[in-house]
Amino acid sequence: MDIKETMEKLQNFINGTYCPPKNGQYIDNYEPATGKVYSLIPDSDASDVEDAVDAAEKAFPIWSGMSNEERSAVLIRLSEGIQNNMELFVNAESKDNGKPRKLAAHVDIPRAVSNFHFFATAIIHFASESHHMEGVGINYTLRKPIGIVGCISPWNLPLYLFSWKIAPALAAGNCVIAKPSEITPYTAYLLGKIAKEAGMPDGVLNIIHGSGAKAGDAIIKHPKIKAISFTGGTKTGAYIAQTAAPMFKKLSLELGGKNPTLIFDDCDFDDMMKTVLRSSFSNQGQICLCGSRLFIQRGIYERFKTVFVEKVGKIKVANPEHPEAIMGAVVSEPHMEKVLSYIRLAEEEGGTILTGGNRVMLEAPYADGYYLRPTVIEGLAYDCRTNQEEIFGPVVTLTPFDTEEEVLKMANSTEYGLAASVWTSELKRAHRVAEQLEVGIVWTNSWLVRDLRTPFGGVKSSGVGREGGWEALRFFTEPKNVFVSY
Ligand code: NDP
Repeated sequence: MDIKETMEKLQNFINGTYCPPKNGQYIDNYEPATGKVYSLIPDSDASDVEDAVDAAEKAFPIWSGMSNEERSAVLIRLSEGIQNNMELFVNAESKDNGKPRKLAAHVDIPRAVSNFHFFATAIIHFASESHHMEGVGINYTLRKPIGIVGCISPWNLPLYLFSWKIAPALAAGNCVIAKPSEITPYTAYLLGKIAKEAGMPDGVLNIIHGSGAKAGDAIIKHPKIKAISFTGGTKTGAYIAQTAAPMFKKLSLELGGKNPTLIFDDCDFDDMMKTVLRSSFSNQGQICLCGSRLFIQRGIYERFKTVFVEKVGKIKVANPEHPEAIMGAVVSEPHMEKVLSYIRLAEEEGGTILTGGNRVMLEAPYADGYYLRPTVIEGLAYDCRTNQEEIFGPVVTLTPFDTEEEVLKMANSTEYGLAASVWTSELKRAHRVAEQLEVGIVWTNSWLVRDLRTPFGGVKSSGVGREGGWEALRFFTEPKNVFVSY
């Protein structure tokens, strides 16, 4: 018997019910830690999306007709549902993505809980504007849910980013057609049951699995889906914009990055070192906010290089369940090959590999897993391909600089503009440099400190629009101005 016949088959969640794809076709779901297929996911197409849209259309008057408090209560129960099933979600996320279990337990799943809780409470405090015209009248702005919206998310922080979109969309009263990455579908699959148990009316949240080219494409092209919130690669974002913009869909695009880390001579060296190790290699370097281009002022360049390379060399790469794993597996074989090809490119471009640069072969049952050594490269021009293109893996480059002007030129030289971090003890410089960086997010003397109220997103090819706080609730609502004459 074909082993796949005995494998777990994930299902779509449409109209409050788990159901197989209409075409009966499935895609292999790999476990990055072992390189083996461990479950099958629906290879959904436009007909499944059509069913989801039908269900959402019926549910919209019910969901949008509920008060903010009622919707908030459902979302709080949903948040608690994830919290109460923490082990289940943590294990699923780590297995599906290859990330250390510890990371899923401390970051990914708690953050998904917070996302639902945050927007469940935010919607109760959400208010709209009014503009008074003295002696003439008053304008007030109504904010209504859009209707049916599409949420498409990537594989690097699967439930974390999935919930970051779904939570504000639902809180604002929309019905959602959501698609997780086909590479990491499992926690989104589990979410349907939790939503149902939380009392979410059928059809409000519909989760479709499958490829971007088929299921994703059907979502962005569906005329009844009025807004698309997308996080993923810049190329896919450009395609979505090209397809959805002529249909006048509202678009939020959170795309790629090539983030700079600016390290000045006068920084707190130990504090910086501890954090820069994390900002370089957390989640195998597969966080859109990781700093992959490290610019170090010349006065501390040699010291930085010696200490950093030594510490990176000691990072434990192990199977995700290993209690001491700092890095697990990267997400897929093609992604591992892509990262390795960039390491080869760096060598061709004249770079020197100071540590790493290779695949790690573990013992069975992890012998076919996708493990890479964290890699540090120096000696490259700031404008070479390795320093301009997104690698999205455990690879960083070191580049020395002398002046503020020089480092800003190099930091701002890529097509991307998502995030940056700046390390300095000089207050004025921290503000001055932050102001001149062409990015959407700057951390000074820190990294990835997240306040969910702040605007989140990038400039240039890193995206259009902002998520987080009021920005997200504004995106998922349509403003209408009403004027009342005195
Ligand atoms: P992709 O762009 O390949 O995919 C993202 C999502 O879009 C997936 O669900 C994918 O489905 C889907 N998709 C692919 N093609 C289409 C299509 N034609 N129509 C509709 N949907 C489609 O990105 P990755 O999953 O590889 O994620 C990595 C990228 O995400 C990196 O560039 C990273 O920088 C970026 N990212 C940005 C963040 C930000 O906040 N700015 C945060 C996190 C990641 P499938 O997987 O099934 O192909």
